[in-house]
Amino acid sequence: MKIFSVWSAKGGVGKSSLAVLLAEILACKGKRVGILDADLYGPSIGHMTGCLSRATVLKEKIRPILCEGKRVLSLVQFPVFQDLHSVRAPIANQILKSLSEEVDWGDTEVLLIDMPPGTGDVQLTLSQLFPFTGAFIVTTPQEITLAIVKKSLAFLRAARIPILGLVENMSYFIEPLSGERLEMFGPSSAKPFCHSEEIRFWGQIPLVSELAASLDQGKNLAGLAKRTCFAPLEEIAVEICKEIWDNSSSKKSTAWRVLDGRVVLSEGGFEKSLSGRSIQSRCPCADCRKRLPVLDSGVKVVSASRVGNDRLQFVFSTGCCHGIYALETLWKKAGVEK
Ligand SMILES: [Zn+2]
Repeated sequence: MKIFSVWSAKGGVGKSSLAVLLAEILACKGKRVGILDADLYGPSIGHMTGCLSRATVLKEKIRPILCEGKRVLSLVQFPVFQDLHSVRAPIANQILKSLSEEVDWGDTEVLLIDMPPGTGDVQLTLSQLFPFTGAFIVTTPQEITLAIVKKSLAFLRAARIPILGLVENMSYFIEPLSGERLEMFGPSSAKPFCHSEEIRFWGQIPLVSELAASLDQGKNLAGLAKRTCFAPLEEIAVEICKEIWDNSSSKKSTAWRVLDGRVVLSEGGFEKSLSGRSIQSRCPCADCRKRLPVLDSGVKVVSASRVGNDRLQFVFSTGCCHGIYALETLWKKAGVEK
């Protein structure tokens, strides 16, 4: 089972709605998908999917509720939590531990975890409990949101969770009568932001009033998921499928080793090596970017490890360990087009 987390730096950006829609799209593609509502302080996935019946326990394992092709687990399915309005951190951590160890997800292929907003204790616990394949970030066009997203990026990089990109929600609204496109929050700067942070920008999603209505009733999502305005989610779903099932990918056969502070990539008897400096010059972390003009040409790669299917993460002699590099990018950097 591959596990992906859906992040937002702050609340109210529509993260849970998009997580549910993404699950719907994956289910429509025939994938066995589960959603875990890890937002202890504002669980909403149960309502949005219409899965409000009590979670059952079988052979000492919690069984998520199966509804419309998706397995859903949310705290609202446990009567004991329904009247709970405050959860202290140690209790929250204990609950999350149970959710990571005591749930039987059956033959689920993809698990989406709807994260609580922010970068605190609960998020740290989750990142330690679940082996995430990657994280998606949901944001809105306000400047302030991007400032907080920066924190999430730093958090994810420190936790070594691959950042699979950012999607902007509520970017615009199409006025139904005039068809005019209204940007309620003003123009977006998400695209240049992603470019400077070297993360993928999946695109903009408009405010769709029917989505809120459908989610309130927990139904009719399949029809909505097909709308072209949700194309960025469709693309993310395709990428998730690729991450999981594309075993024929040639990227997988790349081997690597660290030799005299350089990284040696090899594939099918063909080898190329890259210096520490040339790799670190692409590191997106603030520290490296600050040092970029004076980056020491003697910087060495200390170690390398694989992240996900096709990325490498390095520890440099400067102490930085934040950059995650696609093998494809590294081959390109070494002058090999793949
Ligand atoms: Zn760095």
